[in-house]
Amino acid sequence: MKAYVRHEMGVLGWMEKPEPVCGRDEAICRPIALCPCSSDVHTAWEMDGAWLKDITLGHEALGEIIEVGEEVKDFKVGDKVIVPCTTPTYKHADIQDTPAADAGGQFQGICFSNYSDGTMAEKFVVRAADMNLCHLPEGMDYEKAIMVTDMMTTGFHGAELCEIKFGDTVAVFGIGPVGLMAVAGAKLMGAGKLIAIGTRPNCVAIAKEYGATDIVSYKDGDICEQIMALTNGRGVDAAIVAGGNADTLGQAYSVVRCGGHMANLNVITGVDEFKFSYLQSGAGFLAHKTINGGLCPGGRRRAERLTSMVVADRVDPSRLVTHRFHGLDSIPEALQLMKDKPRDLIKPIVYID
Ligand code: NAP
Ligand code: ZN
Repeated sequence: MKAYVRHEMGVLGWMEKPEPVCGRDEAICRPIALCPCSSDVHTAWEMDGAWLKDITLGHEALGEIIEVGEEVKDFKVGDKVIVPCTTPTYKHADIQDTPAADAGGQFQGICFSNYSDGTMAEKFVVRAADMNLCHLPEGMDYEKAIMVTDMMTTGFHGAELCEIKFGDTVAVFGIGPVGLMAVAGAKLMGAGKLIAIGTRPNCVAIAKEYGATDIVSYKDGDICEQIMALTNGRGVDAAIVAGGNADTLGQAYSVVRCGGHMANLNVITGVDEFKFSYLQSGAGFLAHKTINGGLCPGGRRRAERLTSMVVADRVDPSRLVTHRFHGLDSIPEALQLMKDKPRDLIKPIVYID
């Protein structure tokens, strides 16, 4: 079968791969819709590692089941499914004391396109199908459903990790698709003042729609000074990092009030260390600030919960889709767009008609 792979770092192409074999608790799907992600860009062009050789890219998908293993109870051939990007293993002891996404080792939950073949192929395999798949509700808009797989679970995770309380002042650093979902999640969790940091005009407009009360541009001078001015020098209760660079973590940390929370969702590549200001760290005491971050939660229940929020019209994540493609052959163009990030892009979708 045909798969779009990362041969080497920066060398991508189509490859003929063997037909996948379905394990006893697995399902094989054909993709219905796929979205390239900024994380695919990191994997394809920025990350090196022997385990990534010839790996099939892609981890955001809706699919139709074409085969199930004999142990799969709740899904059958022909079912349409939302496929979470994080599909944890439930067969490792870590599952008893570690976030499921990291069971078996950090990032092991995002096996698609990292430790096993991803979704940008004629067929892909989903492990632990009963535990990881989510039925696509009848009539649900594909563009809403596919945003559940990664953008929504990731952005909302930032708000969860910050334990946002009613009335909290929140800053979201970066308002690409992940940050926009963090804005929406923070509002749903009760944020009061909600400061969004970014510049793309359509992202700014959607950030406001999703609940941002203030916009800060990192191109208009020091972000920290701008945020401190907007909070009368107090700082924010919570800072969610969903973009920027290695300096952004330290900036987010420094605008969090004593005892507040920060959460990082951003994958940062090409650096060896992060800097935190000595002064802002309270002489190394860290000022009772909670620093958190990690891979988005996956699995079936998470996807079902987020799907129910979309169905109940609590949020419309399809607002993120700006570019539409049709056919497997358009994957390279859609992925390249995600790499180039033209200013009118938020998220491309590829329909596999
Ligand atoms: P994106 O579209 O590139 O958005 C990045 C945002 O950061 C944009 O709003 C950009 O502003 C802003 N930005 C750029 N430089 C900045 C700076 N110096 N200070 C503050 N903001 C700055 O990215 P995305 O698709 O939303 O993805 C964000 C990150 O999440 C990626 O690294 C991705 O790999 C990661 N991710 C993580 C998970 C997880 O499980 N944790 C899952 C999915 C994705 P402009 O408006 O000017 O462009
Ligand atoms: Zn993704």
